[in-house]
Amino acid sequence: MTGVVIDGKAVAARVREEVKADCISFQEQYGFAPKLIVIQVGDFGPSTIYVRNKKKACENVGIESEIWHLPDTITQEMLLEKIDQCNTDDQISGVLVQLPLPDHLDAVACRNAIDPKKDVDGFHPINTGKMIAGEESLLPCTPAGIIRLLDEYNIQTDGAHCVVVGRSHIVGKPMAALMLERNATVTVCHSHTKDLAQYTKQADILISAVGQANMITAEYVKPGAVVIDVAMNRDEQGKLCGDIKYDEVSQIASAITPVPGGVGPMTVAMLMYNCLLAARRNR
Ligand code: NDP
Repeated sequence: MTGVVIDGKAVAARVREEVKADCISFQEQYGFAPKLIVIQVGDFGPSTIYVRNKKKACENVGIESEIWHLPDTITQEMLLEKIDQCNTDDQISGVLVQLPLPDHLDAVACRNAIDPKKDVDGFHPINTGKMIAGEESLLPCTPAGIIRLLDEYNIQTDGAHCVVVGRSHIVGKPMAALMLERNATVTVCHSHTKDLAQYTKQADILISAVGQANMITAEYVKPGAVVIDVAMNRDEQGKLCGDIKYDEVSQIASAITPVPGGVGPMTVAMLMYNCLLAARRNR
């Protein structure tokens, strides 16, 4: 048996098309486009690529965007002032601070300084709290993108046993919360979990967000499980890969996300979705 390959690129393209259409009606309704500010501090190479990709994604869907590229000598106080400038400007619908920040800056303080209504990354504790409480909020893009993928492929979450490997603030924990909201029975594993396979083998839906190339082999997976690979790693040849040993696991899974082309494209698409949602809610 070979599992269905979950096509994140195709679903992300659909999300972008929806956002694009809604951006046009937003513009007609209010006379201006939603606007995203991406704050980048310093010149960390990967950040420059991510920030550029976000700007390009905005252009494609009709969201206005600006990159505020600040020197790595900026003080915490000045950076917080920049965030406040975004918070108080009515024409700005979303703001995010690209991580990592240089060591002398406090990323948590920056995250908490963003107006929760403009927190398009969905990392602010108010949005986290609302998500846990099942209230309307801006959801973290990667877990929200995974929920969309599951929905697009009609994968039942109700009553399913979902095992999430990883408990970070940006992926693992919110993923677990969203699956709970979808009536899954959720197990969360992490680096202190003893005998990981004992848990992963019970999963109807296995979501891995660790960051260790090919660590989840077929022995960790129940035949017929849905397998979602969040990770973006490099193997020994320098090739992009996930946590899941794809060649093996795709033979026994009922559905699986590839890396690249699975979860990755969804993250930026959901960021666009959040920008538009924030713009609409802020009107
Ligand atoms: P973190 O490093 O913040 O978290 C990794 C998690 O994995 C931690 O909770 C850690 O446990 C757990 N872990 C580490 N080793 C093991 C192990 N041997 N067994 C079980 N659990 C383990 O990473 P992120 O959550 O930020 O990202 C995870 C991966 O997803 C990375 O590859 C990242 O690049 C990718 N990613 C991809 C995105 C996308 O758009 N596709 C978006 C965001 C991330 P503990 O808490 O105990 O340390």
